[in-house]
Amino acid sequence: MGTVSDYFGSQVFDDRVMRSSLSAEVYASLRKTIDEGKELDISVANAVAEAMKNWAVSKGATHFTHWFQPLTGITAEKHDSFIAPSPDGSVIMDFSGKELIKGEPDASSFPSGGLRATFEARGYTAWDPTSYAFIKGKTLCIPTAFCSYGGHALDKKTPLLRSMEALSKQALRILRLFGNDTAKRVVSSVGPEQEYFLVTKEMYDQRPDLRFTGRTLFGAKPPKGQELDDHYFGVIKPGVAAFMEDLNDELWKLGILAKTEHNEVAPAQHELAPIYSTTNVATDHNQLTMEIMQKVAAKHGLVCLLHEKPFAGVNGSGKHNNWSIATDAGQNLLSPGDTPYENAQFLLFLCAVIKAVDDYQDLLRISVATAGNDHRLGANEAPPAVISIFLGDELNAVLEAIENDTPYKGTEKMQMKLGVDVLPKFNRDTTDRNRTSPFAFTGNKFEFRMLGSSNSIACANIMLNSAVAESLKVYADRLEKADDFKSALHEMIKKTIKDHRRIIFNGNGYDDSWIAEATEKRGLLNYRTTADCMPHLLDDKNVKMLTGLGVFTEDELRSRRDIMLENYCKTVNIEANTMINMVHKRIAPAITRFAAALAKEAAEKQAFVKDAACGYEKELVEKLSALTDSINAKTHELEEAVAGLADATDIIAESALIRDTVLPKMSELREPCDKAELLTAKEYWPFPTYGDILFSVR
Ligand code: ADP
Ligand code: MG
Repeated sequence: MGTVSDYFGSQVFDDRVMRSSLSAEVYASLRKTIDEGKELDISVANAVAEAMKNWAVSKGATHFTHWFQPLTGITAEKHDSFIAPSPDGSVIMDFSGKELIKGEPDASSFPSGGLRATFEARGYTAWDPTSYAFIKGKTLCIPTAFCSYGGHALDKKTPLLRSMEALSKQALRILRLFGNDTAKRVVSSVGPEQEYFLVTKEMYDQRPDLRFTGRTLFGAKPPKGQELDDHYFGVIKPGVAAFMEDLNDELWKLGILAKTEHNEVAPAQHELAPIYSTTNVATDHNQLTMEIMQKVAAKHGLVCLLHEKPFAGVNGSGKHNNWSIATDAGQNLLSPGDTPYENAQFLLFLCAVIKAVDDYQDLLRISVATAGNDHRLGANEAPPAVISIFLGDELNAVLEAIENDTPYKGTEKMQMKLGVDVLPKFNRDTTDRNRTSPFAFTGNKFEFRMLGSSNSIACANIMLNSAVAESLKVYADRLEKADDFKSALHEMIKKTIKDHRRIIFNGNGYDDSWIAEATEKRGLLNYRTTADCMPHLLDDKNVKMLTGLGVFTEDELRSRRDIMLENYCKTVNIEANTMINMVHKRIAPAITRFAAALAKEAAEKQAFVKDAACGYEKELVEKLSALTDSINAKTHELEEAVAGLADATDIIAESALIRDTVLPKMSELREPCDKAELLTAKEYWPFPTYGDILFSVR
């Protein structure tokens, strides 16, 4: 196959291919479209389409598809072949600029939350030239945005691009105030660290819960879990290493910068981190990464679990969204500078993030809300559902000095110098790390750690970009009018720190006392479930901000709220039904059979040895019998809770019922089942246990 640099990006119609296959003129105008968002002329589109097709056909492609990200959270594609008939009966491979720019998939089966009237079943897809086309299998995939004919966004990419635009616009206003007249764009970049589990296909196939819901709904704690901490960064098993090697090759061919991989805390859990790229590209790449992980796993007889909580009592999987903003010239705006003046600019951008996270805690929580992720957030692990920012001691001391007008006493390295006359100078410090914070500053970027492993990163970045754009807008509105820029700047930074100090927390985010302090003393939000947070998407302040920046229309927000809540209800509903089914078809019969066998054996024993007490058998049969009674009762209660959903008048009421009745009844039913598992002989238990699954990969 050659060395990595030979095949890296070999399946991507990237800048190298464009440059070599397009005329200088066409290349130049395409670059203008990519870099500056200039509209594309149809003659240019035709030339690009022709070159793209020739390249794809030379690589063995026969089909093309507009590749898009509907609100289902996964990617969608509809394949068309390149063939066009010739009069002589042969075919030619054909692909026009029109086909490149616009597609019309039948959109009727994608969720639209009422945005697309049924008579208008068709939406259209529009080429996103900022993300390169690529070949998957025998298909040329063209990244696109997906809209209704009414112009409403039906996907995750459209609002993401809009939020990037809003952020760029507002950040440029700030940069101009600092005398930067050359930057043309400000882009947000993201490096998402992806966690996942690997289990063998053999184990997976025997678990209906894994197959239907992606997570185990039953399963007692194994004798060995993650308590020894012997998996994290441990030696990678040969079967896993072979998977990772293959995965890297596939990702590299697609131009995805897979960089680090290691074992995670839980047994069978691993992580992959790419080098960061533009948010839009990072989002496409993360979707592709999740898809390729599953395909490559299948080739190795494995299944890749992307669910946030595949196993109870074992760490769940998340996605760390490393986020920063930079100019098109490559200046990272979240990196403390070398001069006091640069530091003042850095502090203003930092304050914009602090204000954004405090003002829009709810939107950030909403952006990561799914039934699966609720098992991490708000349960006793991972980041809590309460959002706070970790800044580290040094930066914190700088902010305190500014807030209180006290001199900043740093170490020698953190010398105090009057900045833009008033702001302190300090140096970059990346040593301080806090692993428990949901939103941590890590030297030159923020790490948002609340995303679930299966989430598209689009939603979180839409909210992050928008909220920060809004802070910058408020700042720019004020500063552009100020008579004295320097003192206005100082006041603004000071005011932000004063007003938003409550969101900064440098302690242990897993501590119960923190949750009490955060909610009772600081008034921070704590939305534990999707049902709790999602309705707030339509709170006035949120609608005002998101429509004001042009990221969403109010209709789009309403449709998204409904789709997310529907998804929550459907997911839990399927889980509840799977549980009921597993109890009736497998668990209850297994326990009954085992108990009957015990009773029979005891009777046989007594026939043989007259005075045999059979204490063991009796006690066990009694316990199992009590457990089956409890399972029976709890199953009925869960069935009633599910039936009760029919009474809900709307989706908000239904999601509340899911939270208050169905989910608690599911936990109650699980308990006696897991107890029974521990008491039942292995040969009777109807599916593999946690121990079997978690240690199955060699
Ligand atoms: P860790 O968080 O595990 O200590 P790193 O600090 O090396 O690891 O980075 C983790 C992730 O952050 C990587 O995906 C990396 O690409 C990403 N990252 C680094 N710099 C930036 C940046 N300026 N913008 C966005 N992501 C970044
Ligand atoms: Mg990290």
